[in-house]
Amino acid sequence: MRQTKTIIIGGGASGLYLSSLLLKQHTVLEQNSKVGKKILASGGGKCNITNEFISSQNYLGDAEFIDEILSNLSYKEVLAKFSDVKFSKIKNNQFFASSSKDVLNSLLKMCKNSEILTSTKVQSVKKLGDDFILTTNSGDFSCKNLVVASGGLSAKALGVSDIGYNIAMKFNHKVSTLNPALVGLTVQKPEFWMKSLSGVSLKGTLKVGSRILDGELLFTHKGISGPVAMNASLFWQKGECELNFMPNFNLKNIRNSRKQLVSVLPLPRNFIKAYLKNFNLLDKPVSRFSDSEFEIIKNLQSYKFAPAGNFGYEKAEITKGGICVSEMSNFCESKICKNLYFIGEILDVSGMIGGFNLHFAFASAKAVAKKLNSCAL
Ligand SMILES: Cc1cc2nc3c(=O)[nH]c(=O)nc-3n(C[C@H](O)[C@H](O)[C@H](O)COP(=O)(O)OP(=O)(O)OC[C@H]3O[C@@H](n4cnc5c(N)ncnc54)[C@H](O)[C@@H]3O)c2cc1C
Repeated sequence: MRQTKTIIIGGGASGLYLSSLLLKQHTVLEQNSKVGKKILASGGGKCNITNEFISSQNYLGDAEFIDEILSNLSYKEVLAKFSDVKFSKIKNNQFFASSSKDVLNSLLKMCKNSEILTSTKVQSVKKLGDDFILTTNSGDFSCKNLVVASGGLSAKALGVSDIGYNIAMKFNHKVSTLNPALVGLTVQKPEFWMKSLSGVSLKGTLKVGSRILDGELLFTHKGISGPVAMNASLFWQKGECELNFMPNFNLKNIRNSRKQLVSVLPLPRNFIKAYLKNFNLLDKPVSRFSDSEFEIIKNLQSYKFAPAGNFGYEKAEITKGGICVSEMSNFCESKICKNLYFIGEILDVSGMIGGFNLHFAFASAKAVAKKLNSCAL
C-alpha cells in the first residue's frame, strides 16, 4: 500500500487548482490517461475562466455558503494567477482564454509539489483509524487528508464517475437529487414547429419561475438551446416557462403598418413564417391581421410552454444538485468526518453560464488550500 499525507481524487479544474496551491508534497489520482479534459473542453476550447460579476446570484444553491467560498477568490486573482495566458473580456464581463490548452498548461506548471498519477481510477474509500484507504485499479493508497474533486456526471465522453457521491454517502453525507444542467431543453408536440428552425438563433428572454434569463436562444432539432435555454435548465424543474422572442419591441407601433409582418418584426424571417404557419396563418401586411390574429402575434412576447425535459448528461455542461453544503465547513471540510474535503462541481452548487463554474471550482479549492497549508506550517 502506498502512503501519502494528502490525496486529491480528480485531476480536473478544482483538483489541479488545489494542487497548484498546496505547499507540501501530495498525490493527485486521475482516472483518465490525461488530466484536465473538461478544462480543455470549456468555453468551446477557449475556457471562460471567470467573470467580473462573481456573486451567489449567479448560482443555484445555498447563497450564504456560496458567498463565503467565493470570498476566497476574486476574478482579478484568477487572471493574475494565469498571468502567462492571454484573456479577452467578452460581453463586458466574461473572461475567455486564447486557448483552454494554455490554461491547462499554465496550471500544470504551477503544480510543483504534485505527484500526478493518471489512469488511476479510485474505486472505493474506507476509513481505518485516522487513515483513509483508497482502492484503485493500480493498487491501494492510504492518506491522512482526502480531497474529493471528482466532478459531476455531465459530458460523459470526457470521463466521469459517481465515486465522489458514493464517498459522500458512505460517510453519511446527504446528496441532493442530481440532474443534467446547462443543457438544451426538449419540447413537447405544440412546440414541434421550433424543430423546423434548427440552426436559427435570436435574442430573447425566458422566464422560469421568478427568474428572467436573457441572451441568445438557439433552435435545434431537439428543441431549444443557446445560453438562454441552458441557463433556464438550471432553474427549471417541470411546468411552464415563458418565452419573449422580442423583448424591448413595442408592437403597438406597428399595428397599422401596411408593410408585411416579416419586414417589420425584429426577428428572422423564417422564424416568423414558421410561427405563423403553426397557427395556420400566412405573412401579410400587419394592418390586415384581424384583432384575434394579432393576439397570436402579441403572444410572441409571452409564449408559454412546458418543456418535455432536457438533452441529458451527454450534452450537459454540469450536474446540478450534489453533496449538501450544510454539512461542510467554510474550508469545504466535512463536518461529519475530519480531514475529508469535497470541492468543485460535486458540491450542491451550480453556476450559470459565464465562467461561474470554473470560478467556484477554483474558489472551493482555495478554501481547502488555506486549511491544508496552515496545518502544514
Ligand atoms: C463542454 C463543457 C464546456 C464548459 N465550459 C465552461 C466554461 O467555459 N466556463 C465554466 O466556468 N465552466 C464550464 N464548464 C463546466 C466546468 O468545466 C466544470 O464545472 C468544472 O470542470 C468542474 O470542475 P471539477 O474539478 O469539479 O470537475 P472536473 O473538471 O470534471 O474534474 C473531475 C476529475 O475527476 C476525475 N475523476 C472522476 N472520477 C474519478 C475516479 N473514480 N478516480 C479518479 N479520478 C476521477 C475526472 O476524470 C476528472 O478529471 C464546461 C463543461 C463542459 C462539459
